[in-house]
Amino acid sequence: MREAPLAAASVETVHTVEWMKQSARAARAEGRIVGFVPTMGALHEGHLSLIRAAQKQCEPVIVSLFVNPKQFGPNEDLSKYPRMLEADAAKLSGLGVDALFTPSPAEMYPDGFRTYVQVEGLSERLEGRSRPGHFRGVTTVVLKLLEIVQPHFAYFGRKDAQQARIVRQMVDDLNLDTEIVACPIVREPDGLAMSSRNAYLKPEERRAATALYRALDAARREIAAGKGDTLRLETAMRKILNAEPLAKTDYAEIVDADSFEPVTRLRRAAFALLAVFVGSTRLIDNMLIEPSAEHPQEFVVSL
Ligand code: AMP
Repeated sequence: MREAPLAAASVETVHTVEWMKQSARAARAEGRIVGFVPTMGALHEGHLSLIRAAQKQCEPVIVSLFVNPKQFGPNEDLSKYPRMLEADAAKLSGLGVDALFTPSPAEMYPDGFRTYVQVEGLSERLEGRSRPGHFRGVTTVVLKLLEIVQPHFAYFGRKDAQQARIVRQMVDDLNLDTEIVACPIVREPDGLAMSSRNAYLKPEERRAATALYRALDAARREIAAGKGDTLRLETAMRKILNAEPLAKTDYAEIVDADSFEPVTRLRRAAFALLAVFVGSTRLIDNMLIEPSAEHPQEFVVSL
């Protein structure tokens, strides 16, 4: 008789800062390479790709799940943000993640909390302009999490390109002992970047949401045809977005990959960045544009 397959051991769930600190520090003291993946949960393949990347380099891998109230504006979706701890824990168990850190808001921000960290300049443009205070909330929670877990490596998605750039700046500026690893964007088969917020989309909005990918792809085609004038690339993106009645563009810009300032011609690495409302859901997406290694006058894109 064949035995039933063993159920995956369930992931150790940690709720307190103190216990997470002890457990992560013990692993570091044993000379193990600690990997960390911060998330807000409602896990999808994008998150899981970061975890798999971490597992290639690190053991243990610690995942945090914390819907950080400090990074949501007063009129944003904090209360309706999808929360599904049990399903998320099952996914993490299935992947063999070592620990899930899921503190309560009061554990992270006890009464009297009053210290914030802000990366100046980079935090005020694009996402920062549309969502005032957002990056201050992100950097504050990420600094706290990096202090608690003290990972050797922390994994972020390029889906949130500005966030990854800002976190890297914070880590450099504050001499943190963590290396930030940026991982590629994971997409649905029709190109839509995976996001926990995609769950808000009604069926017709879900179809309209492919406009972001189609817009980036239009810019990609211009670049492949040798066009390096960014106004032309932005126009190509806006044409696609404007043709979609359910989509309302917040921004569609080509920026320098380091400064996140607008550029007029492609010369160095750049991002095409999009933020678009589809119905009432705000989606972001981007494409990395880099000089080709063999032909530096030409550009290659990663979508
Ligand atoms: P979130 O739970 O939305 O805060 O995301 C947690 C991490 O997963 C962030 O570093 C995101 O950039 C990353 N992430 C989210 N969606 C994707 C995706 N489609 N592909 C790759 N990484 C992603």
